[in-house]
Amino acid sequence: MPYDIVIIGGGPAAVSAGVYAARKKAKTLLVAESFGGQSIVSADIHNWIGERSISGIVLAEKLEEHIRGYKDDVDIWSDRVESVTRSASDTNLFSITTKAGKSAEARVVIVCSGSSRKRLGITGEDRLDGKGVVYCSICDAPLFGGKDVAVVGAGNAGLEAVIDLYPYAKKIYMVNRGATLKGDAVTQEKIKTFPTVEFIFNAIPREIMGDSFVSSMKYKDIVTGEEKTLAVEGVFIEIGSIPNSGLVKGFVETDEISRIKVDPRTMRTSVVGVWAAGDVTDSLYQQNNIAAGDAVRALLNAHTYLHSGK
Ligand SMILES: Cc1cc2nc3c(=O)[nH]c(=O)nc-3n(C[C@H](O)[C@H](O)[C@H](O)COP(=O)(O)OP(=O)(O)OC[C@H]3O[C@@H](n4cnc5c(N)ncnc54)[C@H](O)[C@@H]3O)c2cc1C
Repeated sequence: MPYDIVIIGGGPAAVSAGVYAARKKAKTLLVAESFGGQSIVSADIHNWIGERSISGIVLAEKLEEHIRGYKDDVDIWSDRVESVTRSASDTNLFSITTKAGKSAEARVVIVCSGSSRKRLGITGEDRLDGKGVVYCSICDAPLFGGKDVAVVGAGNAGLEAVIDLYPYAKKIYMVNRGATLKGDAVTQEKIKTFPTVEFIFNAIPREIMGDSFVSSMKYKDIVTGEEKTLAVEGVFIEIGSIPNSGLVKGFVETDEISRIKVDPRTMRTSVVGVWAAGDVTDSLYQQNNIAAGDAVRALLNAHTYLHSGK
């Protein structure tokens, strides 16, 4: 028997969709490679509504416990979905296939596979991840009050990180690979007026140093060839993210950076019967609460579709 709904993912978006699907008594399969999503690495999440502060690991446990509480309504596979296609036997259905070689069919698919942050790939980055190396400025800027920090990346994400840090950090070095800033011109002009921001151009980060916490970052000046060191307690890496949209590549419409295009009112994709929510989409802002809310919107709209065909 086909499912009504297959939900793909294990982060806040997928779990939110799963809980609402269970409460609607839809026959649901949730396939998650892991639970918790990207913020699992965060020691201290301050903006998950209902929790003054929560670690990423505890949030992941709570999400998993919540969805597993609906075992009569939601089947859960710990697996990775490799592809979503139209069913060969019934064009009203979709087929998913997994890494473990399993497959399932459903009338509706909700893709909540999130994204992965781009990393610099330099020495010290992995070891000091969560110990001064930061990938989410909205989340962690307030932890760097009175400290000197570096922001790596000169596009919109880097500019926004400077805006997030400005009220807190003592000094912000904006480290840019190129010779100019990129991103929104109005935001560029704004941050150029911030007295605590220093721009470092033509610089390639080489190493992040520190024992138990970040204490400095080494970079190479590509004009002079010199290696220089910045004494900083935080390195905000804002060089973009990669949407986990490969499973629907060529099947639903994506934008120029492979995010799934959705109608922001309903979270519908370009294919009738397929919805998407959270960081895998072209929605504005990447936050746990937004991913969860958008997934609820998707699920409710999908539920209406299941019953009315619209
Ligand atoms: C370091 C860091 C800290 C952050 N801190 C905060 C914070 O403090 N507050 C906040 O609001 N936001 C924070 N964010 C942003 C927040 O984590 C994301 O906006 C949110 O996790 C997006 O949720 P999501 O469910 O869309 O996707 P994700 O969290 O990316 O979850 C995707 C899930 O799907 C699974 N998956 C992926 N592909 C497949 C597949 N093919 N098959 C099956 N499963 C799959 C993954 O294993 C994962 O569990 C942070 C992000 C980072 C990187």
